[in-house]
Amino acid sequence: MTKEVEHIANIIRTHDILRRHDFFIKKKFGQNFLTDSNILTKIVQTAELDKKTNVIEIGPGIGALTQFLLEEAAEVMAFEIDDSLIPILGETLAVYDNFQLVHADVLKIDLNDFIGNFSDPNLPIKVVANLPYYITTPILMHLIKSMIPFQSIVVMMQKEVADRIAAQPGTKAYGSLSIAVQLYMKAQVAFDVSRNVFVPAPNVDSAILKMTRLPQPLVEIKNEDFFFRVVKIAFAHRRKTLINNLIQGFGKDKKEAFENLLKQLKLQPAVRAETLTIFDFARLADGLSFLSD
Ligand code: SAM
Repeated sequence: MTKEVEHIANIIRTHDILRRHDFFIKKKFGQNFLTDSNILTKIVQTAELDKKTNVIEIGPGIGALTQFLLEEAAEVMAFEIDDSLIPILGETLAVYDNFQLVHADVLKIDLNDFIGNFSDPNLPIKVVANLPYYITTPILMHLIKSMIPFQSIVVMMQKEVADRIAAQPGTKAYGSLSIAVQLYMKAQVAFDVSRNVFVPAPNVDSAILKMTRLPQPLVEIKNEDFFFRVVKIAFAHRRKTLINNLIQGFGKDKKEAFENLLKQLKLQPAVRAETLTIFDFARLADGLSFLSD
């Protein structure tokens, strides 16, 4: 970022902006503002931005991350729910002519209605954000399902959630969230972030997760709703075997059919859901398709 610009992301300036605007942090909106420019530099480096890339940001806050994005990207479109942050952003980011602010609840809008408003809508799009932690998963699912042609998502979230999303089979963290994201995106934890770089400090540790869109879903899923129903049932009780979860979810009378299916799929009778790959789940859901209605 150019040296002449004063960073919003430092503790003194952040408190000064909040005080001058009589702004009170709203916990209900997951407001934890970043105050460390080194972390922001690392985030934009992880996102690999350039002046030929448009950025979507969710929750710009007082503009700490937005400022770094504006310096590196072609244009930034940010979605902020909190009315009282709108005039603050008007002041803190006044010098940038490549910024568009949308005052909205990101979960209540269709992002496709907005991307045509970029000055050059044909440029590639990346999503970069320090997410409100109370709705991390709904926001990610909203983005992935939106069909917006974004290349990658680089976002700050609670470390435990980032670990679950990037988890591989056979680990404790692996579950339905890993599968829901990894079906469409390659996910990796880029780096951890201390709680001390936020105002106020959150009471959990954080991490930056980088997700890159796969050219097509990892495996072809014939009936997505049924696939995710099977995944949910399979992980319903983590201590139980897969077969016992299937019995509980679909009924005891199907026990023999489940045993035969596991044999056919070359899965051990006592296998647990956490050892199955996404490919295994796709084959399992296909084999159980007689139960989809
Ligand atoms: N980007 C800023 C930073 O890094 O300092 C602020 C990040 S803060 C963790 C999350 C931001 O998301 C807040 O500005 C909050 O008001 C906003 N937010 C919360 N829920 C939202 C929603 N449903 N739609 C849009 N913005 C939301």
